[in-house]
Amino acid sequence: MSWWTHRHEAEATTGGGASAVAAVDPDALEQALDTVGAFLRTYGHHAFDTEACSARELNQACEAWCRHLLAGGPRPGTQPGPEALPLRRRDWRGGRQFLAGRRREESLYVGRTIGDFRDILWRLIQILDHLATQEQDSDERMHAQLSRLRVAAQGPSTEKLRREVLSAVDEIARIADERKRREIARMAGLHSRVKQLGDQLAVARHESTLDPLTGIYNRRGLDERLAQAVSMAHAFRQPASLLLIDLDHFKRVNDTYGHLAGDEVLRQVAHCLACTFRVRNDFVARFGGEEFAVILWNTNGQHAASSGQRVLAALRALRVKHASVVITLTASIGVAEVRHDDSVARWLERSDRALYEAKRRGRDRLVQIGPDGLFCTTPPGARA
Ligand code: GH3
Ligand code: MG
Ligand code: MG
Repeated sequence: MSWWTHRHEAEATTGGGASAVAAVDPDALEQALDTVGAFLRTYGHHAFDTEACSARELNQACEAWCRHLLAGGPRPGTQPGPEALPLRRRDWRGGRQFLAGRRREESLYVGRTIGDFRDILWRLIQILDHLATQEQDSDERMHAQLSRLRVAAQGPSTEKLRREVLSAVDEIARIADERKRREIARMAGLHSRVKQLGDQLAVARHESTLDPLTGIYNRRGLDERLAQAVSMAHAFRQPASLLLIDLDHFKRVNDTYGHLAGDEVLRQVAHCLACTFRVRNDFVARFGGEEFAVILWNTNGQHAASSGQRVLAALRALRVKHASVVITLTASIGVAEVRHDDSVARWLERSDRALYEAKRRGRDRLVQIGPDGLFCTTPPGARA
């Protein structure tokens, strides 16, 4: 049984509408009303959310108008009466106004939304255009894509626009990916170059602390280690001793055998010192000219003096062969232990005074100076 049968029965029960309806072909009327119902229901089923009304509310409103116009139910927004309303008392004008009002609202909403979408798209195109000009190689592809997007944005087809936007997004993602990979490769190259430079710098720095003639540390390297030893003495009261070693009458070697022979002597002395002080932390340097320095870590002045005596013996035993001559030599040594309140300059100055005293006492000997600045008594067996 259709709504029409219900309605017809309702009309019949009211009695009053029978003559008015009789003038109309009932089949045609039924079809017309069915069509109005189909319009309203289809419209309601395919409703979508707008700012003014949700899809669900619109669907419900369409159903309510269907019940009112087709079955004589209460007009939407009014209380139901005891009986179905006859055709002529139904609000046909209200139904038209409802449909037209909703449609107008939807049309405005769609127009506004598409307008907003195009605005956003234009801004996107501008940003991409700006990005594309920043890197030359991906320019071509990006520009081609952007031109298509521009054309689509100006054209009427939202479907074409949708396709172009998706294709642009894919292309941009690909370009961004390529750029990222290139950037990573560039960074890796840069990183290895920086590392290479760092290594070269470390080598250059190390070389700058070495003496080219003898291959042992030079004055610069010595200064760094002296500063470290003083810091360790300040912070941890860690002992360290300095030996200043000066070759005796070295000028005579040069004068007698020539400068090249002198150089050879300096090389051999450096080698002899390096062999005498093999402990990892012992530090041997050429202080300048024919003077050498040794820093002995964790060694007090007394132990350093014993080591110094071994050096004197080793140098006495050294035979430097140059051309057809054999050169012998001796040295004088000054020894000072670092004080916990020392500066590098004060420590050097005390060691130098001890060395000077060793020279003054006749050379080929060692003098140790105490923390109080007084020369220590000569150990048994050593030259006074
Ligand atoms: P003293 O016992 O008082 O130390 O006398 P000395 O002759 O060793 O000392 P002096 O300071 O009078 O002379 C040092 C000499 O060392 C003078 C200088 O020509 C020489 N000399 C300095 N550096 C080098 C070098 O690199 N090679 C050579 N062959 N000689 C050098
Ligand atoms: Mg000297
Ligand atoms: Mg000398």
